[in-house]
Amino acid sequence: MTLKIINGSIPNFNTMALEKKDIIIQNGKIVWVGSDEVPPVLKDTVETIDAKGKIVSPGFIDIHMHEETFDTESVNPLNTLKADDYFASYYELKMGVTTCVAGNCGNNRQSVSEFKAKIEREGAPVNYMTFLGHNYLRQAVGIEDRYRAANSQEIGKMQTLIQENLRHGIVGLSFGIEYSPGIAFDEMVALANTLPDKAYLLSAHFRKDADGAVDSIEELIKLSRLTGYPMQISHIGSCSAYGSMKASLDLIERNRQDGVDVMADCYPYDAFATYIGSAVFDEGCFERWNRDHTAILLTEDPYKNIRCDEALFNRVRASHPNMIVAAFVMNEAEVIEAIKAPFVFVGSDSLYKRDQGHPRGAGTFPRVLSKYVRASHALDLVPALWKMTAGPAERLKLKNKGVIEIGKDADLVIFDLDQMDDLATFSEPTLAPKGIEYVIINGEIAVKANTVLKNRLGQYVPYNK
Ligand SMILES: [Zn+2]
Repeated sequence: MTLKIINGSIPNFNTMALEKKDIIIQNGKIVWVGSDEVPPVLKDTVETIDAKGKIVSPGFIDIHMHEETFDTESVNPLNTLKADDYFASYYELKMGVTTCVAGNCGNNRQSVSEFKAKIEREGAPVNYMTFLGHNYLRQAVGIEDRYRAANSQEIGKMQTLIQENLRHGIVGLSFGIEYSPGIAFDEMVALANTLPDKAYLLSAHFRKDADGAVDSIEELIKLSRLTGYPMQISHIGSCSAYGSMKASLDLIERNRQDGVDVMADCYPYDAFATYIGSAVFDEGCFERWNRDHTAILLTEDPYKNIRCDEALFNRVRASHPNMIVAAFVMNEAEVIEAIKAPFVFVGSDSLYKRDQGHPRGAGTFPRVLSKYVRASHALDLVPALWKMTAGPAERLKLKNKGVIEIGKDADLVIFDLDQMDDLATFSEPTLAPKGIEYVIINGEIAVKANTVLKNRLGQYVPYNK
């Protein structure tokens, strides 16, 4: 199909300005970009989109999300796409994301080979890449106690699994230290060093938030410095937005100047979400956050949308350890400070179980654009788009994505900044945003006027180091 997009404003990441240019797409690629007369050979376009007054951006790249579990139990009969087992990436698509990175925070929801095979067989709402998760590997080698370190035999087995997974094109290794507090520093070093070259990426969910934030970031920088692998610090907002964001960002900045390749991602909310049974909620967490149990919102029946008190929290933690809950414990001003930092990308940390979860999975990218760019002017538009497109593309070595140039993959999002709004809330966490007019994946229209037309245009993208 040939598709022509005219009159739109396109971000130029060299000048950090918008430019009015037309785009022609053929066979999944951008074949022409310009403001002059269209070359005659390309004139017989099949479909034209008039993007007057709209922004035409490279499709958003979500460097940090949590994929779906591909099993029949996850199928939610209320989903508009019946018997559809894609959840997280379906909502990503509706917010303008065209490429997602799964397997973050140490967690894969199934083996990488199953994950990849399913996408290669059926396609996916978006293009998908994945990390291999350390906590998943610990489980795979039989470590049940999250409070102990792996022994040398177990480390050996995990190293073998890492080697076996390289052929699936993993981005690198992800760590979820807070979820398995027993993880030893040397264990992470030994596993990272299994990766055959320094082009692989490490990502990590820190060891401890709030008053533990700076030490935790220090540990991740040390891991990167010692092993030589680049480090992507996960959702720095939920690590440091309790009074230590400035110290955390300064620490990263100093080390970057010193040659350590460390960056971070962040989602634009003052609440995090995770499983209530996880070690995140171990003894002492409420003191650390300086909040009480009413900061916790339950998200699943029979307790959906109920705030906790101490007794309810303890009861649900014991009876429903796998319930995703939201914790309203962060300072938004510090979250904004993080998103503004030049080495921080926008990443949703999308986490859904069926249709329950945190609204960030359906609202992150539009929310940054509407709330922090249009409404409060905390960020300029083009630098904000860089954090969603060219920045993460470069980090992930996606040489054909993240910019609008001839020869690049035709992954695009067309949106109306004036109309844009994230609508997902904690009570309705999957509501699609307003203002997304088109999402184009691999040259085809996936979303038109906020409606999903095609849900399987995405491919599995092996890491191209
Ligand atoms: Zn995490």
